Amino acid sequence: MPQYYIWTIGCQMNKAESERLGSHLEELGYQPAATTDKADLIVINSCVVRQSAESRVANKLDALRSLKRVNHSLTLAVTGCLVNSETDQLKDHFPYVDYFFKPGDYPQWLEKENKLQASLPQHPSPSTFVPIIQGCDNFCSYCIVPYRRGQERSRPVEEIVGEAKELLKRGVKEVILLGQNVDSFGHDLPNKPDLADLLGELNTIDGLARIRFLTSHPKDMSSRLINAVASLDKVCEQISLPVQSGSNDILNAMRRGYTVEHYRQLIAELRTQIPGLGLSTDVIVGFPSESPGQFQQTADLLSELRFDTVHVAAYSPRPGTIAARALEDNVPHAEKRSRLDKIETLQERIAAEINAQFPGKTAEVLVEGKKGGKWQGRTRNGKLVFFTETSHCLGQVKKVRIEHASPWSLQGKVLTSEHQ
Ligand code: SAM
Ligand code: SF4
Repeated sequence: MPQYYIWTIGCQMNKAESERLGSHLEELGYQPAATTDKADLIVINSCVVRQSAESRVANKLDALRSLKRVNHSLTLAVTGCLVNSETDQLKDHFPYVDYFFKPGDYPQWLEKENKLQASLPQHPSPSTFVPIIQGCDNFCSYCIVPYRRGQERSRPVEEIVGEAKELLKRGVKEVILLGQNVDSFGHDLPNKPDLADLLGELNTIDGLARIRFLTSHPKDMSSRLINAVASLDKVCEQISLPVQSGSNDILNAMRRGYTVEHYRQLIAELRTQIPGLGLSTDVIVGFPSESPGQFQQTADLLSELRFDTVHVAAYSPRPGTIAARALEDNVPHAEKRSRLDKIETLQERIAAEINAQFPGKTAEVLVEGKKGGKWQGRTRNGKLVFFTETSHCLGQVKKVRIEHASPWSLQGKVLTSEHQ
């Protein structure tokens, strides 16, 4: 049997697509290979959202070129955000790559007979990603995604519900609905169902324990959606809402479509409607012309709103984007690094303070796997919890007494049934 190896970098969307591609290949008769040198087919699922990711993809491809020199029958394919419409240019640049294909747009030799049936993960994790909307219509000035992933395309509600039911049969307990802009789901479908409608449908599935969704865009976060999260019992109290900057001038230059005041008001509404909400955000530092004062506005906003998690990135110009064409990348590299470090230090302190409230409390954890000999899982509001337990816990919801906390995770002990 031929063997395949998929190397993945980037966002959850890429991870979900790789899981499905693996399953698709297995339906075609491939087997997973433990290492690249055992594989007959290697697929690189790439990310070019930042220069650092693009460089890692280039390094990986470079290493695989050597492998191709010794293994002439190896097929090398590249998918993900590196792949644009100019595949001829890509072929010139990487002549040893056999195929380039856009995400989900499999080349003919990879098509299976029943094209309509999506390939779901064969052995999914208890918590599994379900892409519900592809592409992005927003064109934030710094971002390459709309150029590589195209316009927003929502999947029909019935298709997603059917998929969730099938995943449930395969042992899934929690679905994480994915989209670059997940809260604009449905606007392109007949009758325009929205994410609140989809959550309502999924909430009726017997046996499904939890539902999450990410990533939300502040301009599309509606009161209707907030009410759905607040009222539907399976929808977890967790929202990922990237703010990107605490300065209105920078938000404007980023073409984000909201102000800091609007964002602050959204967070207030979310926290009022959804007690115990876990909140994460994304921030870019060193955007063109970001002054020390504008950077400080971002740091101040993070101190004020106190997120559970902050993903911080230093701006890197992406060729073809509006910012790369029109704005000078004029914050020096060392200054970007220093701003990034300041946000990370600030957030580490805030997360440590938030998590310090957990020891002594009991958390409900859906167990997703084992790491370093410990079971790991998440609370409804997204806290990562580790605990030791001799019995098999995978896929179960356990009550865990939290004993220790760090900025990144909680550790505890399972309560025995008489304590539950
Ligand atoms: N759709 C989400 C949103 O509205 O923010 C995020 C998707 S984006 C692909 C993931 C993260 O990558 C962004 O939140 C941003 O912080 C970061 N990112 C995107 N383009 C970037 C760039 N040119 N430089 C640095 N970070 C970037
Ligand atoms: Fe990129 Fe903006 Fe779309 Fe997010 S919303 S994927 S940052 S263009």
